[in-house]
Formats: sequence, structure tokens, C-alpha cells
Amino acid sequence: MPGQKTKSRLFVISGPSGVGKGTVIQEILRLRGDLTLSVSYTSRTPRAGELDGVNYYFVSRAEFEAMVARAEFLEYAQVHRNYYGTSRIRVQELLKTGRNILFEVDVQGGLQLKQKFAGLCSIFVMPPSEEELIKRINSRGSETPETLSLRLKTMRRELASAGSYDYQIMNEELSVCIGAINRVIDKELGILKSPVLEKTPRKI
Ligand code: 5GP
Repeated sequence: MPGQKTKSRLFVISGPSGVGKGTVIQEILRLRGDLTLSVSYTSRTPRAGELDGVNYYFVSRAEFEAMVARAEFLEYAQVHRNYYGTSRIRVQELLKTGRNILFEVDVQGGLQLKQKFAGLCSIFVMPPSEEELIKRINSRGSETPETLSLRLKTMRRELASAGSYDYQIMNEELSVCIGAINRVIDKELGILKSPVLEKTPRKI
């Protein structure tokens, strides 16, 4: 079933927790003026330095569930016991501006958005190895043994879905990863004509 066609180009970036998606996305947005981030809603509490309306719209669990009941989300998912969702109205508002949109969602959300929007380009950020990922998650210092084991379970599930994404890009060296994602976006927007990267899903 083909999804909605949009004038704006839509990009989704997913990847396991700790892979560095947040940093990659911040840098991509800083480098390019032609992409706007879709700010999600979440029921999780803000981490140090996170701002309401910038990183997420932070709402209570009850508020989130009320929004679900009112069908206000294009997609939503429960990740690590918290809710995360993409607001239908906010995306419609962005689409009206004609700007290209970047979604940062988990694999459940990425696959749902792919069905909803025709031509959505999906990018999966891969960790160099599972060990490296565990090291990075631990270095954040915000995990308890329980939340860490939950994140690892989610990580394995997420990695198993990487093949459904149009592009898989490894974040071993941050600048190399950012450069590669930038080239993918350029190529998709028709800015880069040479076939630097092909859509060849790689088995992991
Ligand atoms: P974190 O708590 O680390 O900010 O995010 C946890 C996970 O939720 C990440 O994989 C992130 O991509 C995902 N996420 C953030 N916003 C959304 C959303 O709107 N929808 C879905 N499905 N996942 C989201």
C-alpha cells in the first residue's frame, strides 16, 4: 500500500541506543539549513541539559496516553518502558512549510513512517561492534544494571532490523559517519549526482 506523497523529502535516522545518533543528528542539522528536525513527544524524564521543545516535548505518561487515545500520533512506540511518539499535527505543520524533515525514531517508528510516507529515505546508524556500544552506554553513567540490560535487549532487536533500512552507516569515526550521512542526504536531494553510495542493504 503506497503511503502519502509529500513535496518535502523525509528522512528517518534510527540506530541502537549509545550509537551516537544524537551527536550525529545535531551535527547534520548544524551543517545543513535544508533539514528540520521533527521533535517527538516522550513520557521519559529529561536528561541533564535536555530542553523541552528542543530535544523532546516532555509530557507525563497520562498525558501521552490521552494523546494516543485522541489519535494524535502518526506513530508511537514504547521504548525502555517510556513512550515516544511523532505528533501528526506538528508534522503536518512542518509539511505545510515545504521543508525537508528529519525524524529520529526507533526501528518500530521508522518502519511505521516508511509505510505512511512514499519515498521516505531511511538511514540506520550502525555501531562498530556490540562491545563498543556497551562501553559507550556505560560511559554515560545514567544506566542502572536493570536499564542497561533492557537497552542491550532493545539494541539486539534494533540491529536485527537494520537490513530494512535504505542505508546502513557505521559510526566508528564520528566525522566519517557524519560525512557519509551528509552525502546520502545530498544524493537523495539531487544535490550530489555521483553515485557515491548505493542503496545496498548489507547483511549484519
Ligand atoms: P532516548 O531515551 O535515548 O532519547 O531515546 C530512546 C529511543 O527512542 C531512541 O531509539 C530514539 O530513536 C527513540 N525515539 C525518539 N523519539 C521517538 C519517536 O517519536 N517515535 C519512536 N518510535 N521512537 C522514538
